[in-house]
Amino acid sequence: MVLLVVEDEQGLGKSLTQGLTEAGHDCTWVRSGAEGLRLASSRPFDVVLLDLMLPDLSGLDVVRGLRSAGSRTAVIMLTALGAVEDRVAGLEAGADDYMVKPFAFAELLARLTAVGRRALKRPSSEVTVGPLRLDLTNRRVTREDRDIDLTPTEFSLLEFLMRYAGQVVTRKMLCEHLWDADWEGVTNVIEVHINRLRSKVDKGFAEPLIQTVRGRGYALRTG
Ligand code: CA
Repeated sequence: MVLLVVEDEQGLGKSLTQGLTEAGHDCTWVRSGAEGLRLASSRPFDVVLLDLMLPDLSGLDVVRGLRSAGSRTAVIMLTALGAVEDRVAGLEAGADDYMVKPFAFAELLARLTAVGRRALKRPSSEVTVGPLRLDLTNRRVTREDRDIDLTPTEFSLLEFLMRYAGQVVTRKMLCEHLWDADWEGVTNVIEVHINRLRSKVDKGFAEPLIQTVRGRGYALRTG
Protein backbone atom coordinates (compact mmCIF):
# COMPACT_ATOMS: atom_id res chain seq x y z
CA MET A 1 0.00 0.00 0.00
CA VAL A 2 0.99 3.61 -0.41
CA LEU A 3 1.26 5.06 3.08
CA LEU A 4 1.80 8.46 4.62
CA VAL A 5 3.20 8.64 8.14
CA VAL A 6 2.68 11.94 9.96
CA GLU A 7 4.74 11.73 13.14
CA ASP A 8 6.92 14.38 14.78
CA GLU A 9 8.73 11.99 17.09
CA GLN A 10 12.02 11.19 15.33
CA GLY A 11 12.55 7.70 16.75
CA LEU A 12 9.03 6.44 16.16
CA GLY A 13 8.76 8.03 12.71
CA LYS A 14 12.00 6.43 11.67
CA SER A 15 11.22 2.96 12.99
CA LEU A 16 7.70 3.03 11.55
CA THR A 17 8.92 4.05 8.12
CA GLN A 18 11.63 1.40 8.21
CA GLY A 19 9.29 -1.36 9.38
CA LEU A 20 6.55 -0.50 6.92
CA THR A 21 9.00 -0.31 4.04
CA GLU A 22 10.42 -3.71 5.00
CA ALA A 23 6.85 -5.04 5.08
CA GLY A 24 6.58 -4.05 1.42
CA HIS A 25 4.73 -0.74 1.70
CA ASP A 26 5.59 2.47 -0.11
CA CYS A 27 6.02 4.83 2.81
CA THR A 28 6.42 8.61 3.01
CA TRP A 29 7.17 10.26 6.35
CA VAL A 30 6.51 13.89 7.28
CA ARG A 31 6.89 15.52 10.68
CA SER A 32 4.24 18.24 10.74
CA GLY A 33 0.47 18.35 10.52
CA ALA A 34 0.47 21.05 7.86
CA GLU A 35 2.84 19.07 5.65
CA GLY A 36 0.74 15.93 6.23
CA LEU A 37 -2.46 17.71 5.25
CA ARG A 38 -0.82 19.21 2.17
CA LEU A 39 0.56 15.87 0.97
CA ALA A 40 -2.55 13.85 1.77
CA SER A 41 -4.66 16.39 -0.14
CA SER A 42 -2.46 16.39 -3.20
CA ARG A 43 -1.37 12.76 -3.59
CA PRO A 44 -3.27 9.48 -3.47
CA PHE A 45 -2.43 7.46 -0.35
CA ASP A 46 -4.13 4.23 0.68
CA VAL A 47 -3.77 4.90 4.38
CA VAL A 48 -2.49 7.84 6.45
CA LEU A 49 -0.96 7.02 9.85
CA LEU A 50 -1.56 10.18 11.78
CA ASP A 51 -0.09 11.18 15.12
CA LEU A 52 -2.49 13.16 17.30
CA MET A 53 -0.05 15.49 19.07
CA LEU A 54 1.89 17.39 16.42
CA PRO A 55 3.77 20.66 16.78
CA ASP A 56 1.52 22.68 14.47
CA LEU A 57 -1.87 21.32 13.41
CA SER A 58 -3.13 18.50 15.60
CA GLY A 59 -3.99 15.13 14.10
CA LEU A 60 -7.66 16.00 14.63
CA ASP A 61 -7.22 19.20 12.58
CA VAL A 62 -5.56 17.21 9.82
CA VAL A 63 -8.27 14.57 9.57
CA ARG A 64 -11.02 17.22 9.76
CA GLY A 65 -9.27 19.20 7.01
CA LEU A 66 -9.07 16.12 4.82
CA ARG A 67 -12.68 15.13 5.32
CA SER A 68 -14.03 18.64 4.80
CA ALA A 69 -12.13 18.74 1.49
CA GLY A 70 -13.93 15.52 0.50
CA SER A 71 -10.95 13.18 0.90
CA ARG A 72 -11.84 9.55 1.57
CA THR A 73 -8.30 8.39 2.30
CA ALA A 74 -8.26 5.94 5.20
CA VAL A 75 -6.76 7.38 8.38
CA ILE A 76 -5.41 5.58 11.44
CA MET A 77 -4.73 7.87 14.38
CA LEU A 78 -1.67 7.11 16.51
CA THR A 79 -1.56 8.58 19.96
CA ALA A 80 -0.38 8.25 23.51
CA LEU A 81 -3.81 9.38 24.67
CA GLY A 82 -5.96 6.32 25.17
CA ALA A 83 -8.98 7.63 27.03
CA VAL A 84 -12.34 6.73 25.57
CA GLU A 85 -13.20 10.38 24.83
CA ASP A 86 -9.95 10.83 22.90
CA ARG A 87 -10.70 7.82 20.75
CA VAL A 88 -14.24 9.04 20.17
CA ALA A 89 -12.95 12.50 19.20
CA GLY A 90 -10.60 10.93 16.65
CA LEU A 91 -13.25 8.74 15.12
CA GLU A 92 -15.79 11.55 15.09
CA ALA A 93 -13.32 13.78 13.28
CA GLY A 94 -13.26 11.18 10.51
CA ALA A 95 -10.48 8.73 11.40
CA ASP A 96 -11.08 5.08 10.48
CA ASP A 97 -9.18 3.50 13.33
CA TYR A 98 -7.18 4.37 16.39
CA MET A 99 -4.00 2.95 17.90
CA VAL A 100 -2.72 3.76 21.37
CA LYS A 101 1.04 4.09 21.77
CA PRO A 102 3.02 2.05 22.51
CA PHE A 103 1.62 -0.54 20.15
CA ALA A 104 2.97 -3.78 18.74
CA PHE A 105 4.11 -3.38 15.15
CA ALA A 106 2.37 -6.64 14.16
CA GLU A 107 -0.92 -5.19 15.36
CA LEU A 108 -0.39 -2.05 13.30
CA LEU A 109 0.22 -4.19 10.21
CA ALA A 110 -2.97 -6.15 10.85
CA ARG A 111 -5.04 -2.98 11.33
CA LEU A 112 -3.51 -1.44 8.22
CA THR A 113 -4.58 -4.40 6.15
CA ALA A 114 -8.10 -4.28 7.58
CA VAL A 115 -8.48 -0.53 7.07
CA GLY A 116 -6.99 -0.70 3.58
CA ARG A 117 -9.44 -3.43 2.63
CA ARG A 118 -12.41 -1.47 3.97
CA ALA A 119 -11.27 1.63 2.10
CA LEU A 120 -11.29 -0.30 -1.17
CA LYS A 121 -14.87 -1.38 -0.56
CA ARG A 122 -16.03 2.07 0.45
CA PRO A 123 -18.45 3.47 -2.08
CA SER A 124 -16.51 6.26 -3.70
CA SER A 125 -18.32 9.01 -5.48
CA GLU A 126 -16.26 11.04 -7.88
CA VAL A 127 -12.82 12.25 -8.83
CA THR A 128 -12.31 15.74 -10.21
CA VAL A 129 -9.20 17.08 -11.93
CA GLY A 130 -9.49 20.53 -13.52
CA PRO A 131 -12.40 20.39 -15.99
CA LEU A 132 -12.63 16.59 -15.85
CA ARG A 133 -15.15 14.85 -13.62
CA LEU A 134 -15.33 11.12 -13.14
CA ASP A 135 -18.43 9.76 -11.44
CA LEU A 136 -17.46 6.32 -10.17
CA THR A 137 -20.93 5.31 -9.09
CA ASN A 138 -22.58 5.92 -12.44
CA ARG A 139 -19.38 5.33 -14.48
CA ARG A 140 -19.87 8.70 -16.15
CA VAL A 141 -17.20 11.10 -17.35
CA THR A 142 -17.64 14.76 -18.23
CA ARG A 143 -15.34 17.53 -19.34
CA GLU A 144 -16.78 21.01 -18.85
CA ASP A 145 -20.19 19.33 -18.55
CA ARG A 146 -19.82 17.64 -21.93
CA ASP A 147 -20.38 13.87 -21.66
CA ILE A 148 -17.52 11.61 -22.73
CA ASP A 149 -18.40 8.07 -23.67
CA LEU A 150 -15.65 5.64 -22.61
CA THR A 151 -15.16 1.89 -22.74
CA PRO A 152 -14.50 0.18 -19.37
CA THR A 153 -10.76 0.00 -20.16
CA GLU A 154 -10.60 3.67 -21.11
CA PHE A 155 -12.56 4.56 -17.98
CA SER A 156 -10.15 2.60 -15.80
CA LEU A 157 -7.18 4.18 -17.58
CA LEU A 158 -8.54 7.70 -17.09
CA GLU A 159 -9.36 7.03 -13.45
CA PHE A 160 -5.78 5.95 -12.86
CA LEU A 161 -4.36 9.02 -14.63
CA MET A 162 -6.69 11.24 -12.60
CA ARG A 163 -5.67 9.67 -9.30
CA TYR A 164 -2.06 10.43 -10.17
CA ALA A 165 -2.81 13.78 -11.82
CA GLY A 166 0.26 15.91 -12.35
CA GLN A 167 2.60 12.94 -11.93
CA VAL A 168 4.15 10.72 -14.56
CA VAL A 169 2.38 7.40 -14.89
CA THR A 170 4.55 4.81 -16.62
CA ARG A 171 3.26 2.23 -19.11
CA LYS A 172 4.33 -0.44 -16.64
CA MET A 173 2.12 1.11 -13.91
CA LEU A 174 -0.80 1.18 -16.32
CA CYS A 175 -0.23 -2.46 -17.33
CA GLU A 176 -0.17 -3.53 -13.71
CA HIS A 177 -3.27 -1.52 -12.95
CA LEU A 178 -5.31 -2.69 -15.93
CA TRP A 179 -4.25 -6.28 -16.29
CA ASP A 180 -2.53 -7.08 -13.04
CA ALA A 181 0.49 -7.97 -15.13
CA ASP A 182 3.77 -6.54 -16.27
CA TRP A 183 3.81 -7.99 -19.72
CA GLU A 184 6.14 -6.52 -22.34
CA GLY A 185 3.66 -7.00 -25.17
CA VAL A 186 0.99 -5.03 -23.38
CA THR A 187 2.82 -1.71 -23.51
CA ASN A 188 1.89 -1.26 -27.19
CA VAL A 189 -1.71 -2.00 -26.33
CA ILE A 190 -1.56 0.73 -23.69
CA GLU A 191 -0.52 3.18 -26.36
CA VAL A 192 -3.53 2.27 -28.48
CA HIS A 193 -5.87 2.75 -25.52
CA ILE A 194 -4.23 6.05 -24.57
CA ASN A 195 -4.58 7.35 -28.13
CA ARG A 196 -8.23 6.40 -28.18
CA LEU A 197 -8.79 7.94 -24.76
CA ARG A 198 -6.99 11.09 -25.84
CA SER A 199 -9.14 11.44 -28.94
CA LYS A 200 -12.24 11.30 -26.74
CA VAL A 201 -11.05 13.46 -23.85
CA ASP A 202 -9.13 16.13 -25.74
CA LYS A 203 -10.93 16.31 -29.06
CA GLY A 204 -12.60 19.67 -29.63
CA PHE A 205 -10.80 21.32 -26.71
CA ALA A 206 -7.97 23.82 -27.04
CA GLU A 207 -6.00 22.44 -24.08
CA PRO A 208 -4.86 18.80 -24.32
CA LEU A 209 -5.02 17.21 -20.87
CA ILE A 210 -3.34 13.87 -21.56
CA GLN A 211 0.32 14.42 -22.18
CA THR A 212 3.05 12.07 -23.33
CA VAL A 213 6.23 12.31 -21.31
CA ARG A 214 8.85 11.10 -23.75
CA GLY A 215 10.55 7.90 -22.68
CA ARG A 216 8.65 7.75 -19.39
CA GLY A 217 4.91 7.52 -19.84
CA TYR A 218 1.93 9.83 -19.53
CA ALA A 219 0.73 12.61 -17.28
CA LEU A 220 -2.62 14.25 -16.82
CA ARG A 221 -2.39 18.02 -16.69
CA THR A 222 -3.93 19.38 -13.54
CA GLY A 223 -4.71 22.95 -14.54
CA1 CA B 1 3.69 13.59 18.61
